[in-house]
Amino acid sequence: MKVIQDCKCCGEKTRVRHRDFSPHAWAVLMHWEEIDASAVGQPICDSCYDDLRELLIERSREVDAAMAHGQIQQLQFVVDQTLSKVRDTPIAS
Ligand SMILES: [Zn+2]
Repeated sequence: MKVIQDCKCCGEKTRVRHRDFSPHAWAVLMHWEEIDASAVGQPICDSCYDDLRELLIERSREVDAAMAHGQIQQLQFVVDQTLSKVRDTPIAS
């Protein structure tokens, strides 16, 4: 389902969709400061999604390293909490 609202990532009012990034992907994106904590689990637009997905693929070695070194554990905790709140909140349509 697509809705028109502000993309939490770039702020543009456009078609956005919920994305199925894994919790560790959100955490790593926060670690890189690509997204704000408020964007976790929120709908984002197609172009942001493409950029972020490409970044995760390009930097997949860094993702593994960050996880192996425990650099994102704290962020992971924030992401898990945020995602569970998002899941409990019905999406306004
Ligand atoms: Zn966007």
